[in-house]
Amino acid sequence: MKVLVADDSLVIRRLLESCLSAWGYEVVSVADGGAAWAALSAEDAPAIAILDWMMPLHSGLDLCRMLRALPRHSYTYILLLTSKGLREDIVEGLGAGADDYVVKPFDKYELEVRLRAGRRIIDLQAELIRTQEALREQATRDALTGVWNRHSILEILSREVDRAGRKCGLLGLLMFDLDHFKDINDTFGHQCGDQVLSGLAGRLRNALRSYDSIGRYGGEEFLVVVPHADADALASQARRLKSVIEGAVLDAEGRQISVTASFGASVFDPLQPGSPDTLIRAADAALYQSKKVGRNAIFLASPNGLQRVD
Ligand code: GH3
Ligand code: MG
Ligand code: MG
Repeated sequence: MKVLVADDSLVIRRLLESCLSAWGYEVVSVADGGAAWAALSAEDAPAIAILDWMMPLHSGLDLCRMLRALPRHSYTYILLLTSKGLREDIVEGLGAGADDYVVKPFDKYELEVRLRAGRRIIDLQAELIRTQEALREQATRDALTGVWNRHSILEILSREVDRAGRKCGLLGLLMFDLDHFKDINDTFGHQCGDQVLSGLAGRLRNALRSYDSIGRYGGEEFLVVVPHADADALASQARRLKSVIEGAVLDAEGRQISVTASFGASVFDPLQPGSPDTLIRAADAALYQSKKVGRNAIFLASPNGLQRVD
């Protein structure tokens, strides 16, 4: 674990560096409050900071306040190192956001156990973040396919419709539904059907640009939100995904299975902005047309009506 040592005394720095290294910590050592702030506000900031109270540029107390005002994900455990041992100083230090303090001249063993307490807090916090992330993942992802679930993809669409309305005005939506999927279940079993769905979703996720989002809208029906796309860009994205689906040979229970999908595409109209629902309804109508002409097709809803684009 990385520990920041900030003290303007070279003697104290050397002493702390040697103790901390001996206890297995990775040490980052600085001589003033400015350098300490640079280290603490960096992306890979140390999880524990031992800060001297009196330092040039920013005092240890200032640093506590500045750090606690930063909106950030991970916690920094702060130990103030001070020759100020008065009760009111300690209260002030803890009030500014320090977690603990050690009075100089410090006792090595006391410092070691106090650091261990800090480390426990940091470990617990990391565990908490991991749990939160796992819960968020569960709440937002579709369990079978790993793509966004219905609620999340609709939320993403709604956010992008807002953004398109305020900014560039470009946004595309694809809706696709696997063709004759019931036959796959009927022929090979539901389990196979599940494996086809999840294998296909994995391929599609890999085929998307990082700013496109795919989610499961219903059983074997998916939505793809394509920001910054005009009708042409959206059509070519749809063609790409269609060929990924067509070209995929999926292994399900030892069988090699291929499927096709029918697509409906709609683009945001800056002249008639509408709601996410408008886009969904238009894509749905276009998808219906793809099914109607025999499936494995792409129709785009445009102001001139439905247009085949595959
Ligand atoms: P179409 O080309 O008209 O879309 O035909 P289809 O058979 O795909 O359409 P239909 O709506 O009649 O049936 C959809 C099928 O998809 C039926 C349902 O059992 C299957 N399905 C939906 N969700 C899942 C799932 O999570 N797992 C499996 N294995 N099958 C699913
Ligand atoms: Mg279907
Ligand atoms: Mg369906």
